[in-house]
Amino acid sequence: MDHRLSPELEELRRTVEEFAHDVVAPKIGDFYERHEFPYEIVREMGRMGLFGLPFPEEYGGMGGDYLALGIALEELARVDSSVAITLEAGVSLGAMPLHLFGTDEQKREWLPRLCAGEILGAFGLTEPDGGSDAGATRTTARLDPDTNEWVINGTKCFITNSGTDITGLVTVTAVTGRKPDGKPRISSIIVPSGTPGFTVAAPYSKVGWNASDTRELSFADVRVPAANLLGEEGRGYAQFLRILDEGRIAIAALATGLAQGCVDESVKYAKERHAFGRPIGANQAIQFKIADMEMKAHTARLAWRDAASRLVAGEPFKKEAALAKLHSSTVAVDNARDATQIHGGYGFMNEYPVARMWRDSKILEIGEGTSEVQRMLIARELGLVG
Ligand SMILES: Cc1cc2nc3c(=O)[nH]c(=O)nc-3n(C[C@H](O)[C@H](O)[C@H](O)COP(=O)(O)OP(=O)(O)OC[C@H]3O[C@@H](n4cnc5c(N)ncnc54)[C@H](O)[C@@H]3O)c2cc1C
Repeated sequence: MDHRLSPELEELRRTVEEFAHDVVAPKIGDFYERHEFPYEIVREMGRMGLFGLPFPEEYGGMGGDYLALGIALEELARVDSSVAITLEAGVSLGAMPLHLFGTDEQKREWLPRLCAGEILGAFGLTEPDGGSDAGATRTTARLDPDTNEWVINGTKCFITNSGTDITGLVTVTAVTGRKPDGKPRISSIIVPSGTPGFTVAAPYSKVGWNASDTRELSFADVRVPAANLLGEEGRGYAQFLRILDEGRIAIAALATGLAQGCVDESVKYAKERHAFGRPIGANQAIQFKIADMEMKAHTARLAWRDAASRLVAGEPFKKEAALAKLHSSTVAVDNARDATQIHGGYGFMNEYPVARMWRDSKILEIGEGTSEVQRMLIARELGLVG
């Protein structure tokens, strides 16, 4: 299998690399410090077509695939993870459920604006009482036969892109009934922003991803038309498993970018910083550390591209996506720690990108399935059952 990029993907990579360096890098530190969503940068990403990368042209997309999305995410995260996660969540969690499971009407209504980055979509799965055990959803949706509307009640937490000025919809998972064995029937329902009874809390104060939007959402007798059901009633569990399998590849690409960004910054700093009369990079201890960091970023890249190639080819990719997510997030945390060490005291100062990378790395071992969940998935794929 050849993981070198086609000329088209290489051009995309270069374009996003340039954007990340010329537009994102000079501005993002201030947004991050102020915990502010970078609307102007996101608008520009929309104009570039990044939010439409893996979607068909008939809905305003770029006609690409998950490889293209991963390339863009990796290049953005080499410089900053807040903008990268805004894109990842906007595409993989916000728009992809509509693309995969929506009716033609739902796609026509939402996808063109989502692809253009004019609005952002969010995916509300996690609840205060549990994220890993997503089958334990407590949010409910009841179909009111008189009005033919879903009536939604419940709370979702940690939802990315859910409270920006340009958030257009949140797809929420809710229990819509019980199976004969008593297990919940979970369904996905589209809730447009601003629907009465749908409340968005203030942004969380987070350790990292400080220029991205994460909120708690409450639903108190929220009414949406029956036609807002996404796909079939009772298929929500299977839908979000698919969404998360694909999303893991995107997160793995993002984590690879962070790991590579740590190498970029460390090589630069090791040449500039002098101690004991010579650059710190002249010391083999530093050289070996950076060589290991490069090795880790490289293997993470191979892992996500392998999973993405399988997805694009229509082959099974569940195990490879979990392997890529587990490996790349571990590597991102390792590289962020080592890059900070190489930067000494300056590595602890927020004005240095590695400080931001350190703060942004930890969530990669938690979001879209923790490292423990990835190990559970891999073990299950190997035929080990508990
Ligand atoms: C910044 C941020 C953005 C997010 N964005 C979104 C979003 O857009 N949409 C969304 O739906 N969610 C989102 N999440 C939620 C995220 O996906 C969950 O936090 C994550 O899946 C873990 O769930 P939890 O926090 O409930 O932890 P828990 O499920 O409570 O897990 C706690 C710990 O127990 C471990 N654990 C649990 N079960 C087992 C087991 N069987 N064996 C071994 N260990 C176990 C976990 O690995 C973890 O270490 C976001 C979270 C954050 C922090």
